[in-house]
Amino acid sequence: MGPIGVLCLQGDFREHLAVLAELGIPSVRVRKPSDLTGIAGLIIPGGESTVIDKLTKIYDLRDPIKKLIQSGLPVFGTCAGLIMLSDRFTGGPADQESFGGLDVTTSRNAFGSQTDSFETVLDFAGIPNPINVAFIRAPLVTEVGAGVQVLASLDDGKVVGVRQGNLLGISFHPEVTGVTEVHKYFVEMCKTANFARIN
Ligand code: GLN
Repeated sequence: MGPIGVLCLQGDFREHLAVLAELGIPSVRVRKPSDLTGIAGLIIPGGESTVIDKLTKIYDLRDPIKKLIQSGLPVFGTCAGLIMLSDRFTGGPADQESFGGLDVTTSRNAFGSQTDSFETVLDFAGIPNPINVAFIRAPLVTEVGAGVQVLASLDDGKVVGVRQGNLLGISFHPEVTGVTEVHKYFVEMCKTANFARIN
């Protein structure tokens, strides 16, 4: 399998690189279109989706990443990364765009401000034990399309983890609480994806 790319323009990409290193998975820092060549998957980190949107346009990464998503590359978006993968989102400036791919609507900053950030323990379908994760100015998935699988919800039923084909999106940050299981789940997606075999 080729390396997993981590979009390294803004946000907590270092933490994702550290998790991949801990798992012994080769990674590539994606900052320009040629960095996308040969990757087996892509992680879009948390941070600020308005900034990630602007920087991917400035660095000519928007169109190549959209094409890779459409051609089936496994992509894992956390928090701002989930917003970037959402077909629809609310609470952003009028000119903010996502890559899309996941047939969901997300609501930005749905839990309030930075000071309303919290940690909690979640069940995640496909991961044997509950995981301890952080929600930091997190988005919520407010609508889920027919082909989307819900992998994680809060106790009140709010959807915070989804998968559609080779796209994985979560509202929270496993990488800041030392949890590696969601990355392992994504690595399995990359290993078994048709895309990885033809790439
Ligand atoms: N609130 C941020 C946004 O809208 C996401 C926060 C995060 O990634 N931790 O992009």
